[in-house]
Amino acid sequence: MLARRSALCLAAFAMAASLAGVTSLGASATTPPAKPGGTTTTAAIPVPAPKAEVPEGWTAPPVRNLLLKGDAPAKTYFGAMAGPADLRARAIGSYARGCLAGGTALPTDGESWQVMRLSRNRNWGHPELIAFLKDLAADAPGLGWRGLLVGDLAQPRGGPMTSGHTSHQIGLDADIWLTEMPNRRLSRQEREQISAISMLKGPLDVKGADRRVDPKKWTGTHARLIRRAAQDRRVARIFVNPTIKKALCQFERGSDRTWLRKVRSWWGHHYHFHVRLSCPAGARGCKNQDPPPPGDGCGAHLAYWLSDEPWVPKKPRDPNKPVVKKRPLALAALPSDCLNVLRAE
Ligand SMILES: [Zn+2]
Repeated sequence: MLARRSALCLAAFAMAASLAGVTSLGASATTPPAKPGGTTTTAAIPVPAPKAEVPEGWTAPPVRNLLLKGDAPAKTYFGAMAGPADLRARAIGSYARGCLAGGTALPTDGESWQVMRLSRNRNWGHPELIAFLKDLAADAPGLGWRGLLVGDLAQPRGGPMTSGHTSHQIGLDADIWLTEMPNRRLSRQEREQISAISMLKGPLDVKGADRRVDPKKWTGTHARLIRRAAQDRRVARIFVNPTIKKALCQFERGSDRTWLRKVRSWWGHHYHFHVRLSCPAGARGCKNQDPPPPGDGCGAHLAYWLSDEPWVPKKPRDPNKPVVKKRPLALAALPSDCLNVLRAE
């Protein structure tokens, strides 16, 4: 089931990777393209045999017999890694362009959390992320929330994912469902099949839409959980749908609204909220995002997000215009230390 083989040949950091600007969750829209030109060096990259137990249903992408080059998609390699790089824990690069050394798995079950979609093998993160999630889970029952259903963290060695997400690459991002943990252990199959619940009242992409959370689904407990996460000093940002941001702006009646600054409006994120930690102290080569603009973000910025402007296209799309697909992030576009992460046992 797994690609166990001795070596892959890789022309590392060679080809010009003319990448389209990667836009991701709050990441800079002006990400520099990879260095053009350069000579081709070939390095052998062994795909290590997995040490960790490989989850049922997880299959490595087909890397066998592939001659990969620097401009080959990085996700092919990182998606093939069943276990972590046995190195000192390090988040390398930036949230949407990097990888993870010394990843740790969040156990699939805790007293007040359960990991969902086990077949994805994405319950890996920097130890600081794992510690944060355990702390948040421990606090949840006291807030009136039985426990966390945890979605994607990162692949065992981080890096671009085989599907979904632009970020989640350095082991500091986590998706937490806006659905409370049930009062029993879910089976492996249930964790694949159960859907999270959307907080939306209706569609957002209709002119004049009522862009609010559904009061039948959204509760003060949701708000308390997100506030608790945002108040954690390790957290840099939390991404939620603008309808949720609005609900949070209305929820906070106290004088301390500083936590709201960390909660940022973004597309999607009405089934789960996305927590992003800052780079751990002293982390070499880990790139923080610029801090959010000052203020609680409940004013003009939110008003824009809730207007028709971002949601309703000015004119219908020309069906004859071809859809330009974004090129996947090339291996050569990642920090060079990510090669060592791939090579490590
Ligand atoms: Zn996410």
